[in-house]
Amino acid sequence: MRGLEEWLPFEDALATAVGRGSPDPTWLAPLLSAEGDDAQRLREAADGVRRRFVGYEVHLRALVEITSYCCRNCMYCGLRRDHTSQPRYRMSPSEVVALARQAASIGYRTVVLQGGEDPCLDRETVARILSDIKASTDLAVTLSLGERSYDTYARWREEGADRYLLRIETTDPALFASVHPDGNLRRRMQCLEDLKRLGYQLGTGVLVGLPGQTALSTADDVIWMRDLGAEMLGVGPFIPNPDTPLADTPGGALDQALNLVAVLRLVFPNAHIPATTALGALDPMGGEKGLKAGANVLMPNLTPRTQRESYALYPGKPIVDITSATCRDAIVARIEAIGRRVAADHGHVHRLTE
Ligand code: SAH
Ligand code: SF4
Repeated sequence: MRGLEEWLPFEDALATAVGRGSPDPTWLAPLLSAEGDDAQRLREAADGVRRRFVGYEVHLRALVEITSYCCRNCMYCGLRRDHTSQPRYRMSPSEVVALARQAASIGYRTVVLQGGEDPCLDRETVARILSDIKASTDLAVTLSLGERSYDTYARWREEGADRYLLRIETTDPALFASVHPDGNLRRRMQCLEDLKRLGYQLGTGVLVGLPGQTALSTADDVIWMRDLGAEMLGVGPFIPNPDTPLADTPGGALDQALNLVAVLRLVFPNAHIPATTALGALDPMGGEKGLKAGANVLMPNLTPRTQRESYALYPGKPIVDITSATCRDAIVARIEAIGRRVAADHGHVHRLTE
């Protein structure tokens, strides 16, 4: 058991991070736990690295939540299958393709198709959606449809899927098991290895503030993601959902999540790191705060309002309607107000050798 006494003092930890030291809990943990002025200095250091390595551009990814059915029972999530009073929807393939085309027509370069693990959205249904989107738009396509077989991931890659997001959530075996009654950490890790082998641009991440999670366990997560070779890192605070078994737990704090965003930028200087929706759910300026702490991606939600309301992973998700070009303009304005600009390209991952 590593104890507090092994942590480097904050100053030394930050210097090691900025000097690209090999990731180690002795310096990751004190950065992840930084408070007050230290936390501010950590974010500024990450902002500097972001500027140097990925510049001023913010990549916009249009998020479409294609199904709220889920056969899994993750303890933290409002879409868990035991949440039987949750109204559910599943978009038809033509609806998904129409939304993707709309995203392209108002200037997005990437669409992210996300959903619960819905057996009705099977391999061939998603393959058809991919082939239609690829045939009629120039969009990069990111999938986030949970754990699937190697063959399914391979088929979707064949149809042109560019990227995949699958958060590991936590690499701590006991914590993973406690929040995933029907999950298997090894299997989830295997899925990420499969995606990597298939050449997907690989996104993963963790929840911050799960019950019992510690800075040391998050430090181990960072090291694991680094060893995996993750290229996109999506992290956000765990927000207790009143309709789940974790309703009465404290949840993650915005500052804790921002520390992790900053640490990830220091450890993965070239990665794409979103300021996730969950940051915005805790603070109306959460998106901007994430972008100033090392993030360089935003994922505006294009799911139509009625469906968005029942895609209730956690409470407080902003439901501003942004399906129109005017709303995209409003997002652009917010980005420009903090001295950044919207990228015009697809924003594929940077695969530079270090
Ligand atoms: N079913 C897929 C994708 C949809 S869920 C999957 O699980 O990978 C997308 C993400 O929402 C999950 O990775 C999880 O980290 C996040 N999420 C779920 N419930 C949450 C909560 N209560 N607070 C914050 N994030 C949550
Ligand atoms: Fe389903 Fe994903 Fe929610 Fe787990 S986190 S219940 S897999 S939608």
